[in-house]
Amino acid sequence: MNHNQTAVLFPGSFDPFTLGHASLVERALKLFPQVVVAVGYNEHKQGWIPVEERVRALEEFYADNRRVTIVSYTGLTVDLAQQLGIHCILRGVRSTKDYEYELDIADINHRLSGIETIVLFADPNLASLSSSVVRELAHMGRDITDWLPGNINYRLNTINEQQRANT
Ligand code: ADP
Repeated sequence: MNHNQTAVLFPGSFDPFTLGHASLVERALKLFPQVVVAVGYNEHKQGWIPVEERVRALEEFYADNRRVTIVSYTGLTVDLAQQLGIHCILRGVRSTKDYEYELDIADINHRLSGIETIVLFADPNLASLSSSVVRELAHMGRDITDWLPGNINYRLNTINEQQRANT
């Protein structure tokens, strides 16, 4: 797979992939011909939804869009970008807190690899939405479907019960 300059890499945990993430992908498709959504995971921490399920649901969700590709990875985002031949990373900023965090990561990534980070500011209607809030609502027994893209379909029986208890 050689995306070169046509693709942007959108890394995240996406645990779960929310309306905020989907909005970012949609807006990025106006700027780049290809968006590669990269589901990052930690080998030592399963997360709320297992990574295979996060990837499966995203593949299904974007199945009709040939401009969106889903990959999973562990390790450094810049290593993945270099493996894929991608020169640009996409991140979203909702707040000054996000800004500080993204600034540091973008700087480190640039020092490590020369790869640039493009930031899109959150749609103000979605700026309070985060995967952790969605997990918290689910834990409290609330229906979370309003916060997820319409047709995304996680097999909820795969959700990590221990993590569910911890969120
Ligand atoms: P990570 O675990 O790497 O922080 P997330 O899965 O939480 O990643 O999010 C991936 C990216 O999407 C981050 O840059 C995050 O700031 C951005 N993001 C998350 N929620 C929203 C939202 N509601 N609007 C815009 N950007 C968002």
